[in-house]
Amino acid sequence: MLTIALSKGRIFQETLPLLQGAEIECKENPETSRKLILNTNNKNIRLLIVRASDVPTYVECGGADIGIAGKDVLDEFDSANLYQICDLKIAKCKMMVAGPKSYDYQKAMQQKSRLKVATKYTKITKEFFAQKGTHIDVIKLYGSMELAPLVSMSDLIVDLVSSGQTLKANNLVEYEKISDISSQLIVNKASLKLKLDEIQPIINAIKNTVK
Ligand code: ATP
Ligand code: MG
Repeated sequence: MLTIALSKGRIFQETLPLLQGAEIECKENPETSRKLILNTNNKNIRLLIVRASDVPTYVECGGADIGIAGKDVLDEFDSANLYQICDLKIAKCKMMVAGPKSYDYQKAMQQKSRLKVATKYTKITKEFFAQKGTHIDVIKLYGSMELAPLVSMSDLIVDLVSSGQTLKANNLVEYEKISDISSQLIVNKASLKLKLDEIQPIINAIKNTVK
């Protein structure tokens, strides 16, 4: 039995064609089903629906053999005990530093001012500013980071941006890109050894379907 961990929403939607490439078809819709384990057309393959940030944990700890997780999640939560097999080129976006239009980011960086940065990605944020030699106070949030500068709680935010519509709607602008983000195929280390015959054809089929 092979178990594949995925998250609902855009990752699930964009993963379906890749799974189809490996002849795996999901029998249920995770958006409407309350089930957390979904059967597929292949009785030896099942899908787990978990929080996006929990996918690496399920794969590392052996709850799933294979997973699909954003680079943001993998970079943030020290996922050393798993293999990142390939870039799936789905759920693409950017990790960005953003803030109010009126804020002078270049000047603040030049003056080495101490900056307040609100984010869900505290590790990525600390590493990025440390490498620039800028001192920051990180304010950890779990969502809607855009709000923090609007109520003067932070100078800047670090968040994922794709179209930029949410930033625009809140009068914020992009200041600097930290990295490009897309989803990665990850595999449990022991599973790759013990279930190689089962896993290899799936990895190959998914790789061949990646555009
Ligand atoms: P939750 O909503 O459960 O708190 P989440 O907000 O991390 O978790 P999603 O918003 O579905 O969950 O994001 C899942 C993954 O999709 C992210 O880890 C990231 O890799 C990718 N992603 C997030 N936002 C975007 C975006 N705007 N465009 C493209 N991909 C994105
Ligand atoms: Mg979300």
